Amino acid sequence: MDSSKSKDSTNSGLQETNSDINDEEKNDLCPGFKDADAFVKYGLGAVLSATKASAGLPQTGDEYDFYRSFPGFQEFCESQGDKLLHCMSQIMQHHGCRSRMRDRNKLTGLEERFDLVVDSNDVILERVGILLDEADGVNRNQQPVMPAEFQPPKIVVSSWNRMGSSSGSRSETFRLLQAKNIARPQMKFKEKVDNSNTPFIPKIFIKPNAVKPLPSYFTNKQIRKERPEDLDVPAALADFIHQQRTQEHVEDMFAHPYQYELDHLTIQESVLSKPEPQMYKPLTETKCSFIDTLDDLVALNEKLCKLSEFAVDLEHHSYRSFLGLTCLIQISSREEDFIIDAIELRSELYILNEAFTDPAIVKVFHGADSDIEWLQRDFGLYVVNLFDTHQASRALNLARHSLDQLLKHFCNVNSEKRYQLADWRIRPLPDEMVQYARMDTHYLLYIYDCVRVQLLDFNHGQPGLLQSVWNKSKDISLKKYTKPIFTEESYLELQRKQKRSFNTQQLTAFRLLFAWRDKLARQEDESTGFTLPTHMMNKISEELPKEPQGIIACCNPVPPLVRQQVNELHLLVQQAREMPLLKVRKDGCQNDLQHCSPDGKLDTLIRLIILLILNSASFLKELETQNDHESLSVAQMKARRIIECFENPFRMYLPSSDVHISKNAKFDPSSKIFEVIKDNVSHCIILLISTEERNQAKQSYQESLQNVATVRQQAAVSGGKKRERVASEVGESTPKPSKKQMKSAEKPQKTEPPPKDSFKPFDYSQSDLKVFAGMYFDELQFFTQQKTARGQKSNSGAGNRSMSYMAGKSDR
Ligand code: AMP
Ligand code: MN
Ligand code: ZN
Repeated sequence: MDSSKSKDSTNSGLQETNSDINDEEKNDLCPGFKDADAFVKYGLGAVLSATKASAGLPQTGDEYDFYRSFPGFQEFCESQGDKLLHCMSQIMQHHGCRSRMRDRNKLTGLEERFDLVVDSNDVILERVGILLDEADGVNRNQQPVMPAEFQPPKIVVSSWNRMGSSSGSRSETFRLLQAKNIARPQMKFKEKVDNSNTPFIPKIFIKPNAVKPLPSYFTNKQIRKERPEDLDVPAALADFIHQQRTQEHVEDMFAHPYQYELDHLTIQESVLSKPEPQMYKPLTETKCSFIDTLDDLVALNEKLCKLSEFAVDLEHHSYRSFLGLTCLIQISSREEDFIIDAIELRSELYILNEAFTDPAIVKVFHGADSDIEWLQRDFGLYVVNLFDTHQASRALNLARHSLDQLLKHFCNVNSEKRYQLADWRIRPLPDEMVQYARMDTHYLLYIYDCVRVQLLDFNHGQPGLLQSVWNKSKDISLKKYTKPIFTEESYLELQRKQKRSFNTQQLTAFRLLFAWRDKLARQEDESTGFTLPTHMMNKISEELPKEPQGIIACCNPVPPLVRQQVNELHLLVQQAREMPLLKVRKDGCQNDLQHCSPDGKLDTLIRLIILLILNSASFLKELETQNDHESLSVAQMKARRIIECFENPFRMYLPSSDVHISKNAKFDPSSKIFEVIKDNVSHCIILLISTEERNQAKQSYQESLQNVATVRQQAAVSGGKKRERVASEVGESTPKPSKKQMKSAEKPQKTEPPPKDSFKPFDYSQSDLKVFAGMYFDELQFFTQQKTARGQKSNSGAGNRSMSYMAGKSDR
C-alpha cells in the first residue's frame, strides 16, 4: 500500500541499524516490526481488541435501532465506517482487487461490499498461498480439470496452522502445508461411509459393561447391516420396504445405547473427596506410543481397563468428507501417552468400549461435546463416567475456558493451538503434529486433580459444585450424534441466517443450488464447503449468470465439483430465471441495506477488521485511536423510546423484498399463502393473486423440481426407460424382494410382511408414478403424500428414513 509505505518508513527507520540484506528484507516485509512474528503477535492482539469492541456494540434489533435514533451515534458510526472503508479500499487496490467500497452511490451497499471483501480475501489468500509455494520451491501451475478423486487434496488453510512459534520452525510449518499426497482415507474404510439422508443409527453391536442388554436390533447383524440403498429397487421403494421392516425396532434404533447405565450411574465417593494433585511426568520422560495395529490396540485396551482414570482427546477432519472423520485419538494415563491412528483402526476401535464404558474408570476430556458425537459416529464408542475439565473451568468461573488457558493456569505450559486446524489425515504423521496432539491429553489428569481441589475449596469443602460438574459431564456423555438431514426447508434455515434479501428468482436459484450441493456432497463424500462454499452460492444466486462462464466467474477459486458440473448448475440457474419475478411494494427504508441489517454490519465489520489486520500495519495504529464510544443517558434513552412508540405501529408488517413461495403453496395448488420473510422474522401474508398467476407459478415450480431431479437423466436421455421399469414394479401388489434377499435364504422371516395391524398398504394408484424414478425431490414429495396417507403422526424416527435420496448404486 503506497500511503502506508511512506508512513511506515519512519518506523522502520528504527531497525535500519545495519545494511545486512536479510534485515532489509525483513524491514520491507513488516515495517516497524522486528520480524514477521512480532507483527503477527501485534496484529492478533489488535484483532482481539477490535473483535471485543465490535462485540460490545449495541446488539441487533431493539438495542441497535434505539441507539441509531440518536444523531450522535449515527454520525460516529458513519465516520468510523468511512475510515474503515477507506482503509479497505486502499488495501484492495494495492492487491489489484475490485474496490468500490466507498462508493456510496451503489444501491446494493452492504451486500456488494461483503462480496467484495470475500472476493478480495480469496484473492489475497490465494496469492499468499502461491508466494508460500514459491518460497518453498514449488511452482503451482494451473491445474487441469479432473474428477474429484484425482484432485490433489486441499489443506485447510487457516492462520492457526501458519503461525510459527519461533523462526526456526518456519520451514517445518511449510512442509506441513505442502503435504499433498494425502490419499482419501475413506477409500480404505472397511465399512462404507453412510451419507444417505437418513437419521443416524448407533453402530454398536457388542455392549460391554451392560446393565441393560443391547436390544436385539443391534445384535441381529442382518437387520442392522442391510441398508435401504442395497435393495435392488428404486430408492424410494427401498426406503419404504426398509422402513416397514425396521418399524418394530424404531425405539431401540434411536435410543442412546448406554442411557440406562448413565441414568443409574452413581459418582463414587472417592472422586468427590479432595484429591492430592498428582504431578504430571515431564514430556521428555514419558513414553509415547503410536498405536496403529490391532494387537497394540488390544494391549492398550487391557492397560486402560486396569486404570482408575485416563485422559482422552480427538483430532478431526471435516473438509474433504461429508460427515467428517476422526483422525486421531489421544489417550494419556499418569504414566504414558498413546496416539491412536483412528483412520487405520477405524473398524477396530469399538473394542475400547470395554474401558470407555467401565463405570469404575474416570475418562477425563476437555470440551467433550464434539468428541462424544464423533466417537459414536465413527466407532460406536460411548463414554460412561466422564469428567469434562471444560465444565469444571466454567463452574470455577475462570476467565477463559480453553485448554490453552488451563494449561497456562495450572501447568504453566504455553501451548499454541497452531495445529488445531491442521490436516490430521496426513500419514505418516509428522513428529511435530504427534507432539502437539499429545499435549492435549498429557497434562489433563493433573488438571483434573487441580480443578477438583478448587471446586471443593470454592464451595467451602462442600461437594455440590463438584457434583454439578460430574452431572454436566454426564449430560454430555448422554449426547447423541445426529446426522445432517436434508429437508425441503433446509435452504431456508441457511438463507434466514444470512439475512439476505432475495427475490423469487434468486431464492429459487439458492434453493436449487443448495439441493445440488447437498446431493453432490453426499455422493462424493465431500463437505458442502468444499463442494460449493456458501458465499459463492450466494453470489451465483444473486447474479443469476446467463452463461456457464458467468457461474465460473462467481467463484474464485473455482471449486473442482463446480467446474465439473458447471453445465448442470447452469441449467439450475436457468430454471430459476424462469420463475415469475414477484415484485413487492418497495419501502425506501426497508430496502436500504445500509439501514436494515445491523447484524450483517457487525459481521462485516469483524471480517473487514480481520482482513485489514492481515494486510496493513498502519491500520492497527488507526484502530487504537478509535475505541472511544458514545454514551447516552438513561433519560435520553427513555425519551427516545417513548417517541419511538409513536412511530408507525405497522412497520413490522410492511413487506420487504424477501419473498418466497411457502411450502403450502408448493404442494397445494389452491393455496394462496405466500410467505414473506423480513429480516429474521417471518410473517405469513395472504396475497390474493389471480388464479392464472398462481397456476403459472405452480407449474413453473414443478418444472424446476423436475429439472433438479432429471438433469443427469436428461444428459443421458434414459429417463423414459427407467420410468417404465419402475412403473411395472410398483404395479405389483407386493414389492419384489431384492436379489440380495433372495440369496440370503437362511433368513426367511425377513421377507415376511410385517404384522397386519402395523401396516396399511399404500394406495399407489393415487400417486404419481414418476416419483419412483428414484430421484431427489420426487421422493420427498412422494413421502410427504405417503405420510399423510398413512396418518403418520411423527416424522422423527424411521419416518425420516424415507427421505433418503441416494439414487442407488448406479448413480455413484
Ligand atoms: P481440540 O479438541 O482442540 O484438539 O480440537 C479437536 C478438533 O476440533 C480439531 O482437530 C479440529 O478438527 C476441530 N477444531 C478445533 N477447533 C476448531 C476451530 N476453531 N475451528 C474449526 N475446527 C476446530
Ligand atoms: Mn478436544
Ligand atoms: Zn485435540
